[in-house]
Amino acid sequence: MRRRKTVFVDSDILVVGGGMGGCGATYESRYWGRDLKIVCVEKANIERSGAVAQGLYAINCYMGMQWNENRPEDHVRYARNDLMGLVREDLGYDIARHVDSTVHKFEEWGLPIMRDPKTGRYQREGKWQIMIHGESYKPIVAEAARKAATEIYNRIMVTHLLMDKDRPERVAGAVGFNVRTGDFYVFRAKAVIVAAGGASHIFKPRAVGEGMGRTWYAPWSSASAYALPIMAGAKMTQMENRIVLTRFKDGYGPVGAYFLHLKTYTQNAYGQDYEPTWYNSIKQLVGDYVDRHPVPTCLRNHALLEEVKAGRGPIRMVTKEAFKDPHKETVGWENFLGMTIGQAVVWASQNIDPKETNPELTTSEPYVMGSHATCSGAWASGPEDYAPAEYQWGYNRMMTVEGLFGAGDTIGGTAHKFSSGSFTEGRIAGKAAVKYVNDMGRQAPQVSEADYETLKKIVYKPMDNFEVGRNEIVAGTVSPSYILPIHGLQRLEKIMDEYVGGIGANYTTNEPLLTRGLELLQMLKEDIDHIGAEDLHQLQRAWELQHRVLASECVTQHTLFRTETRWPGYYYRADHPKLDDKDWHCFTLSRYDRESGKWEMEKAPVYHIVD
Ligand SMILES: Cc1cc2nc3c(=O)[nH]c(=O)nc-3n(C[C@H](O)[C@H](O)[C@H](O)COP(=O)(O)OP(=O)(O)OC[C@H]3O[C@@H](n4cnc5c(N)ncnc54)[C@H](O)[C@@H]3O)c2cc1C
Repeated sequence: MRRRKTVFVDSDILVVGGGMGGCGATYESRYWGRDLKIVCVEKANIERSGAVAQGLYAINCYMGMQWNENRPEDHVRYARNDLMGLVREDLGYDIARHVDSTVHKFEEWGLPIMRDPKTGRYQREGKWQIMIHGESYKPIVAEAARKAATEIYNRIMVTHLLMDKDRPERVAGAVGFNVRTGDFYVFRAKAVIVAAGGASHIFKPRAVGEGMGRTWYAPWSSASAYALPIMAGAKMTQMENRIVLTRFKDGYGPVGAYFLHLKTYTQNAYGQDYEPTWYNSIKQLVGDYVDRHPVPTCLRNHALLEEVKAGRGPIRMVTKEAFKDPHKETVGWENFLGMTIGQAVVWASQNIDPKETNPELTTSEPYVMGSHATCSGAWASGPEDYAPAEYQWGYNRMMTVEGLFGAGDTIGGTAHKFSSGSFTEGRIAGKAAVKYVNDMGRQAPQVSEADYETLKKIVYKPMDNFEVGRNEIVAGTVSPSYILPIHGLQRLEKIMDEYVGGIGANYTTNEPLLTRGLELLQMLKEDIDHIGAEDLHQLQRAWELQHRVLASECVTQHTLFRTETRWPGYYYRADHPKLDDKDWHCFTLSRYDRESGKWEMEKAPVYHIVD
């Protein structure tokens, strides 16, 4: 087999993933750790990487405390309400109290934020959203991280975390490979901050075949944020809380600006307002949560899904009225051009002019992430001055593995942080990681040569499999000795779709389905040991698949554990169709044992700190 060069990189703080959370972590680590070596490693190029890569039109988390618009407590109440009562209020409050300063920095660094001409304040799109000219949002944020970092390593996919050779419960770095040169990288670090984004493509997407890259969440968000901590033994929380988005059909164009700014609204195929039709039945399922304002996102999805099931679809967004106003028409189109240009192209290709035709809406396949209207991710220690004792076992944003921190989609329990909140959480994690490193003194972790040499063999094994197995190709690309990453991905998506509550199952599952889903995932894992990678690109696909499979297993375990339907509209446990506050007003926690392959599940209390 081909020999691969090994490159060693030593640092005090290693940031994995240079998206919003990673850039925030890199920036803030430098502020508190002037003399520390801070390294950020990214599988793409931080200039245009992550979910914000193509730009955004709005910053969705800004309090506006300078104008007394909102208080951090208000944001906690909002997120708690939207997540049907279950959020880590300490973590959410911590982000909310700091997020405005982050946004002010963005403006200082050159991000054009729209202003209300009358008040001079930031132009609000909604209670929490402010409007930006955001095409260059990511390059602006990346520049700050680039200037702060000792080194940025682009084009390196991190595959595993390294643990301390004497204390295996402590993190000591990470390994990965350069997706262009194929070099193997060993990053030795005193603290690691994982900020590797969320997970798309674990459930079968609506668009298949050559269109499968068209998903709402970025197709390159491949669950490393979860798989890396899971493999290291970190506890995860709320992994069952997958998110389903109501979006414009076929292009996943965002609806927020349409609802909030253009004041458009939805109706069924017969021009009726359908949400009131479902009020009583939703009340029977979830009780008073349906009376909250705003109505939780999942419940609005639920009403849409029920209306379509009743045969009165498609659901449409009424744009014809708003688009008569030339200003609103411009805003409507610009909203896509700034971040989802594909939706404008879809409408053009389908002869949809929103001035003449009310476009269809639909619900997406489920995604796993921790920063939108959902809160899957790692279980993290809370802020010293605010978190209840039970939520504090170490430094702020440290996971249950020593020295391992997280931010953005990685951290669970904190919905609605979005781009600005993810950057803010990166800053919080960076500051805490510096303190951890400074407190450590001379007790730095050590990496064992045997460990990284073993991992090196594991990382390139898919290429070895291919090299040997290709001699047995029987037809086209089919070899009896390996499966290709695309085959594994499609099999994973099918299992998750049919057994764990994807679009094909109307988001519905139950205990027998989940149990069988776990068996099938196990068989997939066995076959993935024989995955073949033709080149470095496919090697990356192979490792993305490994990460997706492990995260999917975690999602399935959590879904099985929570015997209730907490978020109708996101998914349904048909065998436990109602919300059950008596037994399940709690967080679900899991821990994976990589030696035995077993999962331990437990409950953790939800503390309501804000009244
Ligand atoms: C379609 C869409 C629309 C959105 N709209 C808005 C909006 O209008 N306003 C708003 O404020 N927020 C919005 N958000 C939310 C915002 O984009 C996220 O909250 C934020 O990007 C999360 O930050 P993160 O750092 O966790 O992940 P990301 O920003 O996605 O960064 C993760 C980074 O990790 C890298 N990475 C992944 N795996 C590895 C690996 N194994 N090794 C090395 N690097 C790796 C990725 O390449 C990426 O650069 C939107 C998100 C999506 C998907």
